[in-house]
Amino acid sequence: MRKVYYIYNPKTRTYDRVYPTVRQRVMSLLRSLFVGMGFGIGAFLLFLWIFGTPSEKELRIENSRLQAQYDVLSHRLDEALTVMKDLQQRDDNLYRVMLQADPIADPVRRASYGGTNRYEELMDLANADLVVNTTQKMDMLDRQLYIQSQSFDEVVKLCKENDEKLKCIPAIQPVANKDLKYTASGYGLRIDPIYNTTKFHEGMDFSANIGTPVYATGNGVVTKAGWQSGYGKIIKIDHGYGYETWYAHLNDMDVRVGQKVVRGQVIGEVGNTGKSTGPHLHYEVHVKGRVVNPVNYYFMDLNADDYDKMIQMAENHGKVYD
Ligand SMILES: [Zn+2]
Repeated sequence: MRKVYYIYNPKTRTYDRVYPTVRQRVMSLLRSLFVGMGFGIGAFLLFLWIFGTPSEKELRIENSRLQAQYDVLSHRLDEALTVMKDLQQRDDNLYRVMLQADPIADPVRRASYGGTNRYEELMDLANADLVVNTTQKMDMLDRQLYIQSQSFDEVVKLCKENDEKLKCIPAIQPVANKDLKYTASGYGLRIDPIYNTTKFHEGMDFSANIGTPVYATGNGVVTKAGWQSGYGKIIKIDHGYGYETWYAHLNDMDVRVGQKVVRGQVIGEVGNTGKSTGPHLHYEVHVKGRVVNPVNYYFMDLNADDYDKMIQMAENHGKVYD
């Protein structure tokens, strides 16, 4: 239907019909169109602003799901790093100490990958902090795992080397338990059996019948097999690594100086030679030239119970045979 336009004529006080040009009609039409479109777009944008588009909503859900996953990942990396720290501590404070190796320096363990631009491209992301942080933790774990695996390679190598050392360190009793007549007397301040004065007893006495076999307590080389004042017939074995053992008051000696012996090999017989008040073996352990308590050097012979008994025996302030 065609629109009809009127205009008020004040002279005649009537409405005169006007006939607008085509151009005027088009302009009018466009104007209405633009206003309508403007309102429409405005309302649409308002709707989007308030509710979002369906696809945007999905993206948001996915995004928050990803963020939650990143959070979980970050948390699990924290846990893995804690386990890693535990491993490192055990490595430094137990394995490496046992094997007399230096702990791995902290800066080596904590060293990060070089380059400050490493995470730059991640900085543009939404949640950049979370993503960069998680990536950094991953890199840290990666690096520490590498260092730790190298360290364990070294530990295994040291273990193999120390296998030889463990064969040499004195680790058994020089007289078998079944052969012991009385409890042995220990290391420390004791009453001298001959002079009746307080004196430091530098070894352990194993009381047994004359002729009872005496065993080398670790692999080594015989450095003395002869008479020494006070000690009577004595055998000394150098085990290397700073360890030396003495076996005194022997009745008989089966080895000579320079001979190699292995742990458990019979080297002589219990006797009563030298300054001694009865048949027994006086046994000493020296580490780097200093005499030490032998009680800590029976670890291959004893289970936990036997060890307790041995400690009690060593504490025994009873009869010393010297
Ligand atoms: Zn003694």
